[in-house]
Amino acid sequence: MFGAVVCPRCRKGFAVDLEHDTSSCPHCGRKVQTRRMKTYFTSASASLTARAVGDLNRRERDLRTFDGEVMTEKERTSHSLKDVGSVLTELGEFTPSELAARLEMKDADELVSRLLLTGSIYESSLGRFRKT
Ligand SMILES: [Zn+2]
Repeated sequence: MFGAVVCPRCRKGFAVDLEHDTSSCPHCGRKVQTRRMKTYFTSASASLTARAVGDLNRRERDLRTFDGEVMTEKERTSHSLKDVGSVLTELGEFTPSELAARLEMKDADELVSRLLLTGSIYESSLGRFRKT
């Protein structure tokens, strides 16, 4: 019997031969005891098990992408407009990149255009902005 398992160290899926007591992760070399591993799939067929391993690894990648999106969303909403307002007052005249640095954002272009639209800031000189 073969089993699809997930490596406890690198979290990648791989196939083990359940007849063997131990197996090694092909990704990071971690030795595991096959009987203690949670099997996500078991089959007498090596090729079916390999396909299940492929599914496991794809799912892992999807989860990572999802994490990335969650983090971007958090970054975008981590500053309430009230915080931004007091930062704008502190900065006086500022460029979008100065604002981004102050708010620890990757870029503040979207924020600046939103603030412009809502009339919270105005362009005081080319590429520089001030709180209204
Ligand atoms: Zn591993």
